[in-house]
Amino acid sequence: MSTKTKTEVFIAGGGVAGLTLALKLAKHQIDVTVVEKQQGMGNVYKGELLQPKTLSIFEELEISTQINKEINPLQKIVTKEVDEKNRQLLEVVMDYSRLPIENNTAAMIPHNTLKEILLNEANRYPHFHLLQPAAFLRKEGTNEVVIKREGLESVIEANIIIGAEGRGSKVRKSVDIPLKQSTYTHQFLTVTFPSPPSLVDGEMIGNHERFLGLFPLPGGEVRSVLLIRGDEYKQMKKQGLEAFYEAYIQLKPELEGYVNQIKSWKDIQLMVPIRHTVTHYTEGNVVIIGDAAHSVHPMAGEGMNLAIQDAYVLGDLISWMYEVRRPSDYELLKWFEDVRGERVEYLSWLSHQSALIYNLRGHIPQKLRVLAIKRLALNKRLHDKQMMNIAGIGLWKFGLTDGLSAFGFGKRELSEKVLNKHMFNKKDDFPWRYKKKR
Ligand SMILES: Cc1cc2nc3c(=O)[nH]c(=O)nc-3n(C[C@H](O)[C@H](O)[C@H](O)COP(=O)(O)OP(=O)(O)OC[C@H]3O[C@@H](n4cnc5c(N)ncnc54)[C@H](O)[C@@H]3O)c2cc1C
Repeated sequence: MSTKTKTEVFIAGGGVAGLTLALKLAKHQIDVTVVEKQQGMGNVYKGELLQPKTLSIFEELEISTQINKEINPLQKIVTKEVDEKNRQLLEVVMDYSRLPIENNTAAMIPHNTLKEILLNEANRYPHFHLLQPAAFLRKEGTNEVVIKREGLESVIEANIIIGAEGRGSKVRKSVDIPLKQSTYTHQFLTVTFPSPPSLVDGEMIGNHERFLGLFPLPGGEVRSVLLIRGDEYKQMKKQGLEAFYEAYIQLKPELEGYVNQIKSWKDIQLMVPIRHTVTHYTEGNVVIIGDAAHSVHPMAGEGMNLAIQDAYVLGDLISWMYEVRRPSDYELLKWFEDVRGERVEYLSWLSHQSALIYNLRGHIPQKLRVLAIKRLALNKRLHDKQMMNIAGIGLWKFGLTDGLSAFGFGKRELSEKVLNKHMFNKKDDFPWRYKKKR
């Protein structure tokens, strides 16, 4: 064991969650140390869809100018269902512009570009320190962590310890927070390739066997996800890339000549969806955020957004604890769980539901899916609620009244006043700044 250093907040993991939290704290002049085990930015595909709430967080972090140069705004996501001969059975549009907020759009950004922006901005602040490559190994006592860097172990003393190292979080394991995990019978293949110019909106295309999601990135590229059966990957690889191209072109013929520009299986990433939840996010002076605390099915494009939103809320809470000179009153950290727990759980459940409706294959499941999507998208009340929830700007759970509304009973519309009532305001996001007690 060699040196021992000190910091106020120690963060294991320099992904979007860790970097957003570090930036927020460094801006508040709180000494923060991030350890990231990978050299560079990494080259696996990760989340790239930014929901409106996340974009508003970037505004508050004063990085919108940099972000806006690198995004492709996404106003609409078109959901289609087609038969074997590619005849259209359904086309509905999930439209962000109906949200009663100023910046009513989502956006696509390459994951590493986002991390670079967060890192460059954090580097401007003297209270930000990054150790990379360096790995969190274990926690010792209440305030010490052991890290490994260049083959040597060293100790960092910290007031608050954050686990932001993704699904396999060692910080979470060090405080024995148990994990509940569920798996799916399907998998995804994901890859980015040049986009046909006709592709402007996000598209989700299903038939009785498969699902293809297409999300246009800046720079004339498109990020794609193809749903396959659990046993299909090996089979497809054996058949060769032609089988992969064919699956895409069958669902979207305009991709001919574009998807074929992928020349190696090495460029195509297999993504095995897993959903996990935990019983709690805080234990004494330890807090887990992002994928360390919850991984959600990727269908609804929420994982990265939940991670950034966690970081932003926790960043404000810790800043406030320092402002009111109670930085070691660790009971206050539970406030983070109060704010984020229910929101995350509901979005995880919604993502899970979206996954289930594509999980079953065959013509009858497809017919039921067409019916369900139609009921949701063509009923203004349900559509507005769904958009508000996935955009991250409010929480309004579906209930019995919505079930009745789906079948034409009761109110089919929500007034703007009612919608506003369910939107998050500063008091919802940062209750510690308004209430005396939890
Ligand atoms: C293929 C794919 C597609 C996805 N698509 C979407 C999408 O469209 N939209 C969306 O919102 N989400 C999506 N997600 C999910 C999203 O990428 C994650 O939810 C998000 O990256 C979580 O951020 P994080 O910072 O919590 O964790 P991560 O991004 O996993 O970052 C954790 C970091 O911690 C580091 N680390 C791990 N262990 C240690 C250690 N012991 N010491 C130090 N560092 C460590 C890792 O190297 C990593 O850099 C997708 C995920 C995948 C894999």
